Amino acid sequence: MKRLRLRVRGQVQGVGFRPFLHGLAHRLALTGWVLNDGAGVLAEVQGDALERFLAALAEDAPPLARIDAIETDAIPAQPDETGFAILASQRGAVTTGIAPDAAVCPACLAELFDPADRRYRYPFLNCTHCGPRFTITRALPYDRPQTAMAGFPLCPDCAAEYADPADRRFHAQPTACPSCGPRLSHSIAEVLAALRGGRIVAIKGLGGFHLACDAFDAAAVERLRARKQRNGKPFALMVANVASAERFVEMEAAERALLEGVARPVVLLRRREAPTLPASRAPSLPRFAGEGLESPPLRSGGGLGRGQASSSSTLPDAIAPGLAWLGVMLPYTPIHHLLFHEATGRPDGTAWLERPQDLALVMTSANPGGEPLAIGNDEARRRLEGIADLIVDHDRDILIRADDSVMRVVAGAPAFLRRGRGHVPTPIRLPRSGPPVLAVGGHQKATVCLTRGDEAFLSQHIGDLDNAATLEFLEESVAHLRRILAVEPVAVAHDLHPDFQSTRFAESLGLPTLPVQHHHAHIAAVLAEQGEGGPALGLALDGFGLGPDGGSWGGEMLLVEGVGFTRLGHLAPLAQPGGDVAARQPWRMAAAALARMGRGAEIAGRFAACGPADGVRRMIEAGINAPPTSSCGRWFDAACGILGVRAVAGFEGEAPMALESLVRRPTVLEGGWRIDGGVLDLTPLLESLLQINAQEGAERFHGTLAAALVAWAMPELAARGLDRVALSGGCLMNAVLAEALSAGFAARGVTALLPRRAPANDGGLSLGQAWVAVQSLLQEGLPPCASPFPPA
Ligand SMILES: [Zn+2]
Ligand SMILES: [Zn+2]
Repeated sequence: MKRLRLRVRGQVQGVGFRPFLHGLAHRLALTGWVLNDGAGVLAEVQGDALERFLAALAEDAPPLARIDAIETDAIPAQPDETGFAILASQRGAVTTGIAPDAAVCPACLAELFDPADRRYRYPFLNCTHCGPRFTITRALPYDRPQTAMAGFPLCPDCAAEYADPADRRFHAQPTACPSCGPRLSHSIAEVLAALRGGRIVAIKGLGGFHLACDAFDAAAVERLRARKQRNGKPFALMVANVASAERFVEMEAAERALLEGVARPVVLLRRREAPTLPASRAPSLPRFAGEGLESPPLRSGGGLGRGQASSSSTLPDAIAPGLAWLGVMLPYTPIHHLLFHEATGRPDGTAWLERPQDLALVMTSANPGGEPLAIGNDEARRRLEGIADLIVDHDRDILIRADDSVMRVVAGAPAFLRRGRGHVPTPIRLPRSGPPVLAVGGHQKATVCLTRGDEAFLSQHIGDLDNAATLEFLEESVAHLRRILAVEPVAVAHDLHPDFQSTRFAESLGLPTLPVQHHHAHIAAVLAEQGEGGPALGLALDGFGLGPDGGSWGGEMLLVEGVGFTRLGHLAPLAQPGGDVAARQPWRMAAAALARMGRGAEIAGRFAACGPADGVRRMIEAGINAPPTSSCGRWFDAACGILGVRAVAGFEGEAPMALESLVRRPTVLEGGWRIDGGVLDLTPLLESLLQINAQEGAERFHGTLAAALVAWAMPELAARGLDRVALSGGCLMNAVLAEALSAGFAARGVTALLPRRAPANDGGLSLGQAWVAVQSLLQEGLPPCASPFPPA
């Protein structure tokens, strides 16, 4: 008879771990006990099947558990012991964390559609393996009184399940049933009728309200777009399952896994219909050829059998105008599932869940005016008035907002475009442990990051800090993270830019502050999540970040060593006529590129229809209000402007997304670049685009840019004996570019490290800032970002 003491670390509380161990011990006829304490789960097990027990522990753990370590010690057996007990939590227990929100599990779905079950069609059912977590938790310990369920005393039936170690709702803090839990304001039938009637419905979800409408109803989609003033920004689509999604999009195994995972992000998937450029948005340049862009018919057997909508078998273009991808997500709350269940005639059982369904919903964040997502019932009524025709809410509060995560598969693995619900507050492991620090990110797509030991807690997506409400959300997110982690930071890291709201907030905290250069932070974020100590070479391909020289950076080759970095090179500077406004008007960057080619005289003729073309030419030539920038994003804009792909962008990133959409197969123009003294100049590539159509140009721009970047970085890598290169910055959300770079480096024996746990864009900045600050504190006395400046 052997006895083991086990320590299990990781996300092992509030996820059904103790009932799992209890059940496992019973099956294997083991005795002992298990309890939660401040470090995770502690257990003692005794019997003959300990090997099998340990194997099952690692393999069959509950779906929401994340085991970071299992430590075992052989201890003396206790011959008289009988049974296996779940003991009361020890003092200081449940400090190890809160799980992210998770999609309804299969066991709960079986109950939801079983007419004999007491939770049949109950919109708030959940268990220890699924349901709300992060968004309903106010503070530690993670216990019902600290959640939005505090006001819902358990009924006797629920209380019995909650107390039964053999039940999958044992200590399920958010558990509820129709007699004791939250209630929905409208019946599912009413909600569906409104959607089918073309109305825009606000539906309270896990991390905030969505605005929903029937995705096949072009008028409703246009109305939603007009009311939300969304300027062409794509809407996400919710469909019942993979079989339904496949009518609209293509999908590989990795994408399917992402779509069906418990985090249920919005996944960018390639549309079956090729995109067309909406006439109203495309500039009237003659070169935009339509070959290859006609919409092929949908595959037959699409199964669109529903009345009117079947006559138009494709989705309205207004969902994602001119883009090759659709953002698709699957249902993740019981309310979502019930809508599809209602739409398909309320079948019993779960077989229908796998079959293609006709209903498809636009589901977009209810964040009018670029302000944070609405979460409160009164707030929704106030802020969504005039946008939503119907507001569907309930009496379970959302305590912290979390937008849907947005992901795509890049170079064969998942990458974040936006990190939110389903992923926060899962920590990212840092290469080293250090003092707790806070980092507040940049200006756009802000996130904050709080560290505890070697764990970095990257917040959910907060948004662009353009308004007071978003700044308030940032402050709330910091307070919430401090509360749920019980951590007080000793320093705060921020961007080098003195005028960012985030920088001002950092300075208001009364803590030592550490400025971190923007692109240094981008590269540090990749190194942090991938456990790379450095020195490391990084390419930061980005929009805008302030350099220590006061210049506008964004296409940088950096050598990062510990807390410092060296700028080894950068993209050739382009004038940015009009400053910030040029970031939304790609034609201005095209004009700057023309001037660089010595073809300034052509600017007025080519761009007369786009804006004050001759004025822009004069600004560029006189160097007035046309600051130079080495931004890779602006080089993308210049290509878009030259090729006539979005002369003016409705939202940040629209033009390069449209350009990427056109690429089928990147091509390389030999001689398309020049490298001189560390400066990579793409002018020959841009000049060649004047001669070809948009699709050919898009393919040439992507392929040649990637080849040029590889050619630029290789000598620097070789000179230092490095075989890895870190890639980050907003341009790496472009899968074509990321994949071409990965392949290009791989062909030369270099591994490209891409951001996987944090977004490549500014949403990942706070992670990099935090990692630089942690290292800086560990090596006291060193400045956070010494920047020896090489000749440019
Ligand atoms: Zn469940
Ligand atoms: Zn109940």
